Amino acid sequence: MPHELPKAYEPGAIETRWADYWIKEKLFSVPTPPPGETRPVFTLLLPPPNVTGQLHMGHMFGQTQMDIIVRWHRMRGFITLWLPGTDHAGIATQMMVERDLVKEGLKRRDLGRKKFIERVWDWKKHYGGAILNQMKRLGASVDWDREYFTMDEDLSHAVREVFVRLYEEGLIYRGHYIVNWCPWHETAISDLEVKHEDVAGKLWEIRYPVVGSDEFITVATTRPETMLGDTAIAVNAKDERYTHLHGKKVMLPLMNREIPIITDELAQPEFGTGAVKVTPAHDPNDFEAGKRHHLPQITVMDEHAHMNQNAGVYAGLDRFEARKRVLADLQEQGFLVGEKDYALSIGKCERCGTIVEPRLSEQWFIKIAPLAARAKEAVESGEITIVPDNHRTIYLNWMNNIHDWCVSRQLWWGHRIPAWTCGNCKQVTVAREAPLTCGKCGSTDLEQVPDVLDTWFSSGLLPFTTLGWPDKTRDQAVFYPTTLLITAYEILFFWVARMIMFGCHFMQGHQQDPAIKKASGWADKKNDSVPFREVYIHSLVRDAERQKMSKVKGNVINPLEVIDRFGTDATRFTLAAMAAPGTDIAFNESRTEGYRAFANKIWNAARFMFMNVDRVEPGLRPAGTAEGGGPHMGVAGFQTSALEDRWILSRFNRVVADVNDALKTYRFHEAANRIYDFFWGDFCDWYLELIKPRLNFEDGADKSAAQIACANLVNLFDASLRLLHPVMPFITEEIWQAIYEGKPPLQSIALAAYPLSDQEQIDFAAETEMAILQDLIVSVRNLRAELKVEPKVRVPTEVFAHEPAIRTMIEHNHGAIERLANLEKITFVEGSLASKAAARGTARFDVHVIYERKIDVAAECERLKKELDKIEKELANNHKQLGNPQFLAKAPAKVVEGLRTRGQELLVLQEKTLSKMKELGCK
Ligand SMILES: [Zn+2]
Ligand SMILES: [Zn+2]
Repeated sequence: MPHELPKAYEPGAIETRWADYWIKEKLFSVPTPPPGETRPVFTLLLPPPNVTGQLHMGHMFGQTQMDIIVRWHRMRGFITLWLPGTDHAGIATQMMVERDLVKEGLKRRDLGRKKFIERVWDWKKHYGGAILNQMKRLGASVDWDREYFTMDEDLSHAVREVFVRLYEEGLIYRGHYIVNWCPWHETAISDLEVKHEDVAGKLWEIRYPVVGSDEFITVATTRPETMLGDTAIAVNAKDERYTHLHGKKVMLPLMNREIPIITDELAQPEFGTGAVKVTPAHDPNDFEAGKRHHLPQITVMDEHAHMNQNAGVYAGLDRFEARKRVLADLQEQGFLVGEKDYALSIGKCERCGTIVEPRLSEQWFIKIAPLAARAKEAVESGEITIVPDNHRTIYLNWMNNIHDWCVSRQLWWGHRIPAWTCGNCKQVTVAREAPLTCGKCGSTDLEQVPDVLDTWFSSGLLPFTTLGWPDKTRDQAVFYPTTLLITAYEILFFWVARMIMFGCHFMQGHQQDPAIKKASGWADKKNDSVPFREVYIHSLVRDAERQKMSKVKGNVINPLEVIDRFGTDATRFTLAAMAAPGTDIAFNESRTEGYRAFANKIWNAARFMFMNVDRVEPGLRPAGTAEGGGPHMGVAGFQTSALEDRWILSRFNRVVADVNDALKTYRFHEAANRIYDFFWGDFCDWYLELIKPRLNFEDGADKSAAQIACANLVNLFDASLRLLHPVMPFITEEIWQAIYEGKPPLQSIALAAYPLSDQEQIDFAAETEMAILQDLIVSVRNLRAELKVEPKVRVPTEVFAHEPAIRTMIEHNHGAIERLANLEKITFVEGSLASKAAARGTARFDVHVIYERKIDVAAECERLKKELDKIEKELANNHKQLGNPQFLAKAPAKVVEGLRTRGQELLVLQEKTLSKMKELGCK
């Protein structure tokens, strides 16, 4: 049966077919390994995209890197678990549904909590998780049987358990606190969710009359409406301007309330008048000062940022309207004494853009210091490695300056806080399940606290809750700590830091199965409570002009559109080939187009191979991918009968070593580029061309030679496909399956063995010889191009080889040289040819193309002059190094020896170039 491979490479058809196949066959599903398992384990948690999300370039970039690492481990024989899922994304999802409601003229309060939540679940059922289907297009080899959603019942149960335990340990408290409040969302948001913008604002100066005198104290503010809630004026104790006013009071304008003058560090003598107003309910610094002096906290705004009943006549006004009225009234009554332009930074809600209002409210907090201490220690001690290293420093700095975490949100969508307030005695009970009666007074009038938890609370628990926590499970013993986390910088604190804090706390005392731990290479690690052993922070994808992609700029590249045009494989390859650690990518479609051509090249090479195999030895199969993985080293079943065989085998093993090394340290770009150069250059451009005559046995030639050539081709192709598979999973699967005519020994190339380098198969002599041949062929090709020789014309050539061994080698391979360089005949001469026109001299040989066309003397002189410059520069450098005693004392003998040899060669080249220039009469 002939091998089936369509004529044209059409990624669209191939890719969807294999993506479906992998999922249908459950190839990446990982059952729980039983006790006694001794294979190494690799576990990776997918950073859960929001359930509302659409796949963007950043996702695709991250997931491409994850999939490469995951496939690579799987092929190396690791039990490989990649856990996918989505996040309920409290605020984002709630907003999505609220927007829908607005179209129907409704607000969430019109529906009520229960109906609204039903509506969100309904939305999720219909539209949620579209991003996971998009991931399937990328070929992400996740275990879909273990897909989770952060609001699943078991995960929600774990969230309640964590909350109650923290509460019982005294690590959760409730308190009045100034939080960042989004009036649109009507909820507290964390510092991390506030975007700061520099704007041109105003600074207003207001004077407050001192009670019992005709003096005034002037203060400045950018938010005059908050003065309605002032409860003191602060001056610095050391500020002599105000010493005589200590202990006195001022009359608060507009409100006619007496408030004290206090001394506090809040007031800095060198700033403005040195006096400041104190509004404990509306400013975080004032809040602290207020606590120091036991000042009342007067809230003057409600949750919509409208003025409330404490704001006197301004009650009911929006905050900005109130600002105008307050200023007008102050002006009219003679209290407004100045107005200046002032540059200030305002905080906006990251999601809706509403200006954030500092607001005093009752919230739930996690006491972070004890959790942070352990999380810091885990990174400092090297139990968790963060790559690249600069992010480690950022992480540790943050941990040193961390504040208590406000975990409550005034939303409806999310994990509701497991706390109940007694309607009778106001006692708050925190419990795993709804209590029937109040523990203090016995009342049954209990109502659950309306707040939900910050989304990052539940996602911070995922490394262990997805493995069955709070039960002690075999999955935890095997897969925890997870091996690696690949993620973007922007969620280092939101997510990564919190996972470390929670993991170190709740998994304290956990131990990974010792046999698996050892096999996986973690025997030296002591702390098995950490959520992962390593974190790799990847960079950003920008547009071709290095601009950050944004909807506003309109430069967002949709990865699915790129995939539609060039295929997933080519898009993945682009991202991998550009993914140098620590450097942002400037995504350019022309690169993707180039990698599509690369895929096409491989496709055509496969077709060429099949054509020959079907003719020479139908049914031939590779020796490398035997059942259970087969031999991993080098290329199995490869017979080295000619120089090109020895050479390609050597090259392959070198590349394999480099690629494995690069993947170990997340140098995806190096891995991809090495494979590219090997497959396109060494394999397709050279090896295939060199073995062509051996495949042709019809005109009386040796059939067994053709059989060996075919076997080599198939074995090498099979190994090269396995090498490329993690980066280009689809085309490699298609060709690999075709090699086996649809009946492979394993269900998928994804389960076959990844090549390892066999040092025995590295052949220095073959590589040196081949380099000379390639140099000779390329020299002739260049000469032909310069002489503008018609492609059909085969030209005679003269060669002078400096050493007899090289002459023998060239003679031995003359057939290949003549064919690849399009030569008529090689004649060996005694004596240098370098001075001739239409000739090239190298350190090992001179070659002269005999062709009757006058060369352009001026152009040739120009070229020679450039070459001479280059040679002389290198020569000068060479002399400098060899004349430097410090260098000679330190450099290894091999390096010095190499430099000496090169120096000799350069002298030869200089001499040849000069004599040629003389011959041509160059100036
Ligand atoms: Zn908002
Ligand atoms: Zn009670």
